[in-house]
Amino acid sequence: MTEGPLPLPARGMPTGDVLARLRALRTSDANWKDGKTWSLVYYAGEELTELLKAAYGEYIHENGLGPMAFHSLQKMEADVIAMAAHLLGGDGDVVGNMTSGGSESILMAVKTARDLARAERPAIAAPEIVLPASAHPAFLKAAHYFGLKPLRVPVAADLRADVAAMAAAITENCVLLVGSAPSYPHGVIDPIRELAAIAAERKIPMHVDSCVGGFLLPFVRKLGHPIPDFDFAVPGVTSMSADLHKYGFGAKGSSIVLYRNRQIRRHQYFAFADWSGGIYGSPTMAGTRPGGAISAAWAVMNHLGEEGYLKLASTIMETTKALMQGISAIPGLCILGRPEMSVFAFASDTLNVYALADAMEARGWFLDRQQQPVCLHMMVTPAHAGVVQSFLSDLRECAAQVAAVDPDEVTGAAALYGALATIPDRGAVQDVVLDFMDEWTKVKE
Ligand SMILES: *Cc1c(COP(=O)(O)O)cnc(C)c1O
Repeated sequence: MTEGPLPLPARGMPTGDVLARLRALRTSDANWKDGKTWSLVYYAGEELTELLKAAYGEYIHENGLGPMAFHSLQKMEADVIAMAAHLLGGDGDVVGNMTSGGSESILMAVKTARDLARAERPAIAAPEIVLPASAHPAFLKAAHYFGLKPLRVPVAADLRADVAAMAAAITENCVLLVGSAPSYPHGVIDPIRELAAIAAERKIPMHVDSCVGGFLLPFVRKLGHPIPDFDFAVPGVTSMSADLHKYGFGAKGSSIVLYRNRQIRRHQYFAFADWSGGIYGSPTMAGTRPGGAISAAWAVMNHLGEEGYLKLASTIMETTKALMQGISAIPGLCILGRPEMSVFAFASDTLNVYALADAMEARGWFLDRQQQPVCLHMMVTPAHAGVVQSFLSDLRECAAQVAAVDPDEVTGAAALYGALATIPDRGAVQDVVLDFMDEWTKVKE
């Protein structure tokens, strides 16, 4: 490990060498292409990947900051937003923007709610947002960045937002109520209709975080699965987030934030008219925006169409069903709550599932460890259709192996995760995470 600044190579490396080198760097990466990972990558095959690369490459230099210069990007972005609004139950008033990802979409929705309250309810000095404990940390990041107080409400026994407890947490300082469709940890859909009714009655905006579900649930429903209402069809829902770079199967760096109408969205925008560089306007966090993320999203939506997304959704749901049934059949393992699409978690009363994750990792499978309650996370994509049997047979063997070990005798990563999940001083755990992030930027040989 080298410390300190690293000089540029004195002489540049030829194209072929540099590409060979960067491909070689990948050898110790998680193998997502063969369906070994259960988070982070949403892969739907080589054909779609080639389309994304080509579409992204076409616009690799264009800048989404300048719609006047690039009418092409302006048109594609408007199409993408309008198609997303249609999918999510929007009428002609629903508007939105593309962002770099779910976190940016959520940052924008929270900032918009704060500034809407500043304009319409100026008596609020210390704005609060009320959210279920299962909501994504991006809301806490937004509260941290924009000076709001988050009020996290424990979820109900079914792991969905507890409507009565959420209602009770609302004070006169509340500027935003949050629900997820579905939640990332357990894949359950919060009672959006009930939450939105409370929001409407108390005249508070309501955000539905459909980052992971926004581009899958509409198709799952169309396939006949009973999906409760979660989108703009529900009165009281004022904003939504949906990630193109998840089940939209776009390139990384693309998401959507939508608002019920233009009056709300206006509080998202930033403009500055007195800069020597000219009149400046920027709708979202980013200044320069990669044209490729926009063109790739436009390309994949037009290439797949409803038919293509339905076909992928059907594969994903069949794969999920087989995995959930297989996991439930393994002694000691159970699925948490009632997951509605392709994201779920499983736990155990008898086995140490962190030790199970370690055993699976030794066989090349990457499962995310969750906490409160301790469980393992699954996010199913078309890449997993071919690995159901091998995954389940490895899981069965690993579960038997872990069952033979005294749960108090676990070692290695499982012991560390177990400690981190249960240390009462969460501030100390946060410090561990900060230290870990510091290490990321150290130059390695
Ligand atoms: C992924 C996700 C986010 C955050 O999105 P990023 O693209 O990782 O920034 C927010 N909410 C939910 C429910 C998610 O699944």
